[in-house]
Amino acid sequence: MTVSEVRERFLKEKEAVKTLKDLENFRQLFLGKKGLISQLFKELRSAPPEKRKELGREINLLREEVESFVRQKAKELKEKELQERLRRERLDAALPGDTVLPLGAKHPLSAVVEEITEIFKGMGFTVETGPEVEKEEYNFDMLNIPKEHPARDMQDTFYLNRKGYLLRTHTSPVQVRTLLKKRPPVQIIAPGRVYRRDDDPTHSPMFFQVEGLVVNETVNFAHMMWVLKEFLRRFFETEVPVRFRPSYFPFTEPSTEVDIGCVICGGEGCRVCKNTGWLEVLGAGMVHPAVLEACGVDAERYRGFAFGLGVDRFAMLKYGVDNIKHFYENDARFLRQFLSL
Ligand SMILES: [Zn+2]
Repeated sequence: MTVSEVRERFLKEKEAVKTLKDLENFRQLFLGKKGLISQLFKELRSAPPEKRKELGREINLLREEVESFVRQKAKELKEKELQERLRRERLDAALPGDTVLPLGAKHPLSAVVEEITEIFKGMGFTVETGPEVEKEEYNFDMLNIPKEHPARDMQDTFYLNRKGYLLRTHTSPVQVRTLLKKRPPVQIIAPGRVYRRDDDPTHSPMFFQVEGLVVNETVNFAHMMWVLKEFLRRFFETEVPVRFRPSYFPFTEPSTEVDIGCVICGGEGCRVCKNTGWLEVLGAGMVHPAVLEACGVDAERYRGFAFGLGVDRFAMLKYGVDNIKHFYENDARFLRQFLSL
């Protein structure tokens, strides 16, 4: 093969180099150990001596030309591939994130407290809170539960070493705190933790209540019934059957317990409703005049109604959870079911 033949081949082949891989094949073909240029040098040995110098020069020139092309082309192709990669891998800030980190979510009880709060806010209630370490006076005495009153036994209380203090057994002391600082009209709910010495599948020593209190000059039992029915309808998102049973609480008179048709069995009777078809969900009543007077509110002029509900119970019914403990054990497998809340 002559130098000019190899040059022609070079001029032809170089046009076909499109990628770095092509270029490597091209380089092997011309500059490899057994490449065309090496072959030319090998053949040089058998050329007539007087032509060798001139021929050697030509081969060297061709080799430089090929090498220069390979260098140039390599640079060009690398740049091109880089640009293409950048275009291909361009960061799109609008794409959804890579959610490798597990996302947290609201605890089902927090979600239910929020839901209940929103419903009452929608009916014109505002939110009040009180301390969990409460004065015995606010938790009992001012709610018409004097010392030695048997009603104190209705709630197994955690007393604290500091005399006169306890862990509140209900959210009702927030009624007292509210009436002590605000004159009627008052229309509040008070969500929060409460504590009792109770521990079984439907009772936890710490649980959540929502208290409600309405005090003004005209409110009556029928208003209360409407508010509670409307709340239950909105919470369970259906026209649930509701019944009011006479009951007794020291701080209300008359008092009532509110049942709804069992949302689990639809009233047929099941384990959850103990085959009665009804579930007790609320305690309520007209605020006892003694409570109003204890808070300095004129019981001749004002009247009110109050209610209390267990958030855990509502959450259990809404999500079909059969053991209250699930809410407090923080088992991720249980909580994960509520990720969308
Ligand atoms: Zn049932």
